[in-house]
Amino acid sequence: MAATSLNAPNAPLLQKTHQTHVFLKPISTIPCQTSAKRFSISCSATTQDRLSVQSQSQDRVFNFAAGPATLPENVLLKAQSELYNWHGSGMSVMEMSHRGKDFRSIIEKAEADLRSLLNIPENYAVLFLQGGATTQFAAVPLNLCAPGDSVDYLVTGSWGDKAFKEAKKYCNPKVIWSGKSENYVRVPSFDGLELNPNAKYLHICANETIYGVEFKDYPVPRNPNGVLVADMSSNFCSKPVDVTKFGLVYAGAQKNVGPSGVCIVIVRKDLLGNAQEITPVMLDYKILADNNSLYNTPPCYGIYMCGLVFEDLLKQGGLEEVEKKNQKKAGILYNAIDESKGFYRCPVEKSVRSLMNVPFTLEKSELGAEFLKEAEKEKMVQLKGHRSVGGMRASIYNAMPLAGVEKLVAFMKDFQAKHA
Ligand code: PMP
Repeated sequence: MAATSLNAPNAPLLQKTHQTHVFLKPISTIPCQTSAKRFSISCSATTQDRLSVQSQSQDRVFNFAAGPATLPENVLLKAQSELYNWHGSGMSVMEMSHRGKDFRSIIEKAEADLRSLLNIPENYAVLFLQGGATTQFAAVPLNLCAPGDSVDYLVTGSWGDKAFKEAKKYCNPKVIWSGKSENYVRVPSFDGLELNPNAKYLHICANETIYGVEFKDYPVPRNPNGVLVADMSSNFCSKPVDVTKFGLVYAGAQKNVGPSGVCIVIVRKDLLGNAQEITPVMLDYKILADNNSLYNTPPCYGIYMCGLVFEDLLKQGGLEEVEKKNQKKAGILYNAIDESKGFYRCPVEKSVRSLMNVPFTLEKSELGAEFLKEAEKEKMVQLKGHRSVGGMRASIYNAMPLAGVEKLVAFMKDFQAKHA
């Protein structure tokens, strides 16, 4: 593209540097792309310099959505800068063959970075799949047990319940404990659980996104040959986890580690190869592992985005550092709720409150619509609780900056002062 054409109406925000088209960063001093203004700028700073200038630009909202959720701004900007021409390849990651060397380097780096983040040992396979976590509700029983086999489900929220219901089609699952009658506010003591000594696996949802109940410790299956399986969709990579406690972990990417369309499965290799006969080829972990997640065309761009997030988490100092930040954010929000003298209330037992999803109600529930409207005016969006529980829910995943939580807390105090 000739440089002069950048001045044409509707020209894309591109600058030509050394044969490489670089999308310019929408920093606050520069009109952003959504404002449809054009500008000229000299391009002496490297893209990386510009990527590190800011933590949150003026034209973005604080997005408290449960997923798809906010992504790290520097990751989005890096993806933007590489969108048009990835590393001088002359094409976007979206246009690459999934079997070419460039995409292979992307998926291999994503896997290596995830392995070092979570300290995943060699005897576990890492799979980048499609179909969301919901598909894993079926893939888990199809791969880990025969049709008549018994398995246990510990149900602390509606995702665990959905996983149980799906498993009924493929094996013989039993709910060994459910918090449904109490409206899912706690995790039971593990001592009293009536675990089946023959269960092939024990399934938990490590963080129930809707109710905000998070396991802080994990139960051990009673069957010495059974394994613990966890749906970690909404707290994946939010803190260090000892993967060796689990036979299998799965997580949809769209909360903490990327866009929707990618689901990550971490599975102990000795569990592979026993899929039920009816298992679709696309759900057979052994086939997927033998082909390094490339049995068919994988969600290439989503995997690339996850890779950028993993790289960013490593740069932040790994999951110990990430957890500290998450504890700080959640701490100030739960404190604000608990110190509101009942104006706001979080129903979840304190010991298992989620660091990721903070549900709360307003004592004067009739103020809910106004709360949401006023918050939106302040550029804080998606605070409405899940339709099945009502109230509010602030999802404060890794990528939610501390400033976003501080702003929400200040807003909540102000709202209370006006309406108490
Ligand atoms: N499990 C949990 C804990 C979730 O939060 C979700 C999605 N919100 C799912 C499973 C379903 O994920 P997906 O939409 O990717 O199938």
